[in-house]
Amino acid sequence: MSRFLSPRFAGLEAYTPGEQPRDQQYIKLNTNESPYPPSPEVLARLNADEVKRLNLYPDPEGKILKEKLAKLYGVEKENIFLSNGSDDILNFAFMAFCDEERGAAFPEISYGFYPVYADLYHVPHVKLPLKEDFSIDYKDYCDINKMVVVANPNAPTGMEIGLFEIEEILKANPNHVVLIDEAYVDFGGTSAVGLVGKYPNLLVSMTYSKSRSMAGARLGFAIASKEIIEDLEKIKFSTNPYNINRLTLAAGEAAVDSDAYYKENAKKIMATRETTVKDLKALGFTVLDSKANFIFAKPPKISGADFYAQLKKKGVLVRHFEKEKIRDFVRITIGTDEQMEVFLQKTQEVLADR
Ligand code: PMP
Repeated sequence: MSRFLSPRFAGLEAYTPGEQPRDQQYIKLNTNESPYPPSPEVLARLNADEVKRLNLYPDPEGKILKEKLAKLYGVEKENIFLSNGSDDILNFAFMAFCDEERGAAFPEISYGFYPVYADLYHVPHVKLPLKEDFSIDYKDYCDINKMVVVANPNAPTGMEIGLFEIEEILKANPNHVVLIDEAYVDFGGTSAVGLVGKYPNLLVSMTYSKSRSMAGARLGFAIASKEIIEDLEKIKFSTNPYNINRLTLAAGEAAVDSDAYYKENAKKIMATRETTVKDLKALGFTVLDSKANFIFAKPPKISGADFYAQLKKKGVLVRHFEKEKIRDFVRITIGTDEQMEVFLQKTQEVLADR
């Protein structure tokens, strides 16, 4: 910390992203990317002509992309907000809807960025424990008088919370935004987007980073009532109006045009997930019920930390969280069938050494 940094950030603990190593080629199952490339339409769109236009600013409103997404999700373009990855939505939401008095609530075990944004903006927050079985108890979020942030499916557990429970949370907090983070919804989850017309306090955030194979391009979007979107736009236009670059906007448009390709990939990932779960259970793993493109699993005979380290030595990268209650587990992103075969073989080798 330099002497120039405002003292208000002195205690801030920044978010630690998952490893993105460049030292060797790993079978990379640690940060929930899609193992499949962007669609041929996206690749074709990122051509020399598009690159030549980089001298020009992008459309700060992203009108074309909003129109396409609105059509895809059955809403109006005024219900859509575009962002630089969905982290950007979280950032804007904490900035817009919370302050020193207006707090936030989220699960104790969830996406690690929620408490960081809360700390960044000095938002008082409560981290609510999960139930014994790692599910979210919706009753904890009712009448809490705070912005609620819930990932559905949750990360790193992969477990789902139902729409009934989400509606109860929405009804119980009419004066606060309820942010449902649907980063992983396309792998068999249930989206709350259909509730947007009914609940003006609902904010659904989504990303191109997972099912749409564009983690490297940084594109996210939110769907919510027009009033919430207007608030987010106000904050965006007061901080970084060009938060999405031209190439990403173009790629995002082409990805909507090839929605069927991504749906097919999501199906493949779900099928691979089910095979992997079966194989791991046969080896003695405890595996939580996942609706995401990853699984949360506890290996037999070996600690989560050792399993992670041994696999890494063998060229397979998974994610381990050094956090009480979940340190026995690892989070494994679902790759291609071929990648998961290697993962399984290396897993068997690690367990055989015990
Ligand atoms: N929400 C959840 C639950 C996540 O796990 C992640 C990233 N891994 C994000 C949001 C943010 O993803 P991105 O910024 O790439 O859209």
